[in-house]
Parts: sequence; structure tokens; C-alpha cells
Amino acid sequence: MFVTFEGIEGSGKSSVLNAVQKHLEEQGHSILRTLEPGGSRIGQELRKLLLSMNSTDLTGESELFLYLADRAQHVATVIRPALEEGKIVLSDRYADSTVAYQGYGRGLDPRQLHSFNDVAVSGLWPDLTLLLDLPAEVGLGRAVARNMKEQKCDSEGRFEAESLSFHSTVREGYLTLAALHNNRYRIVDATQPLDKVIEDCIEILEAKLRG
Ligand code: C5P
Repeated sequence: MFVTFEGIEGSGKSSVLNAVQKHLEEQGHSILRTLEPGGSRIGQELRKLLLSMNSTDLTGESELFLYLADRAQHVATVIRPALEEGKIVLSDRYADSTVAYQGYGRGLDPRQLHSFNDVAVSGLWPDLTLLLDLPAEVGLGRAVARNMKEQKCDSEGRFEAESLSFHSTVREGYLTLAALHNNRYRIVDATQPLDKVIEDCIEILEAKLRG
């Protein structure tokens, strides 16, 4: 089973993924935990490059094709082999991030991005996508607090500099995607306490595993 986690910054994806992975492993499942960008060896280099650029360094199209290259390599060398071994794959971001960020966020055509994504993933779409949803101002507030605590002021910390309206547009993009692909999407209220967000995600996953 292939499960992706999506959401804006500060939605709590990493903490939720840690807990979900631990829970499923304790149940005896074999898990591959991965992420985008950066889930493959080449992808780690692309991640460094992408997260060290700011939006004026790259054209929107160049940025897009770097994310797609990361994804194509990730699917071919990491995700598909793990699924073939019978593992449950949990990915922190996947193709929908491109539609939300490069499409709704940066203004590229979401429908065209869907076609590009389909080439990059060669037809491998998730069985389940959990959208950790919260208002952009709440997410950004959390991200700023975390980055101050970790004293991250460049690289990955740069993202908080994007405007509130950018993140609100990305969030709206995700909600549009969730409505369009409601067969695989589940929306989880990420403003709830972390324990409750985790509990909701586990409940959805267990229902999916029971079929
Ligand atoms: O999930 P994580 O916070 O590690 O992602 C790093 C950042 O990369 C995101 O906050 C987002 O701003 C950016 N990103 C993007 N386009 C994507 C995926 C991620 O702009 N397709």
C-alpha cells in the first residue's frame, strides 16, 4: 500500500509520520518511510539544490523539472521496488505537492502539471493521501517558532519568508485536489492537538488496511 502525506508548512507531517510509522511497525508491518524532495540518492542532491534557491534564482519551469526529476528517480529506484517487496510506503509529500506549490502557488497550469506528474510517476498514484489541513497563518506560526528554536535561518528556513497569501493559495490548492480526487484523499484537521491528529490518521490507515 502506498500512502502519501501532504500539507503546508507547519502542518505537522514529520511528527505525524514518526508516530504512524512506529505504530504500523509495532503491528508487524514492514514500512518504507520516504520523502520528497530527496527520497533517492540523486534526490538528496536535488533537495539541497532546491532548498538553497530562492524563488528568483530559478524560473518556475526549471524548478518544476527539478521536482519532477526528483520524483521520477524516487519512484523508479525507491518506491516501486519497496511496493514490489510488499512494504507499506509512507511518503512525506509526493506528486500533489507539485500541483499545490508549483501549480496553485506559483501559477503553473494545474492540469498540465497533472500530465507531467503522470509521466514522472509512470502511473504510480497513491492508494491513500492524508491531507493535514490547517489555515496558513497557523502553519506558518508553527514553522517560524520551530525554525527559531532550531536556529534555522537559511536553507530550509527560507520558506517561512514566502508570503501568507502564497501559503493560503497552496492550502486552497490542496483542498481543491482533495475534492477532485476524493476517492484517495482524506482530510485531517491539523489544528487539533498532535495526539488527536495522529489518532485520526491511524484510524483512517487501519480502515484502509482492513480494505
Ligand atoms: O516537506 P518539507 O517542509 O520538507 O518541504 C520543504 C519545502 O519545499 C516546503 O515547505 C515547500 O515550501 C517546498 N516545496 C515546494 N514544491 C514542492 C515540494 C516542496 O515548493 N513540490
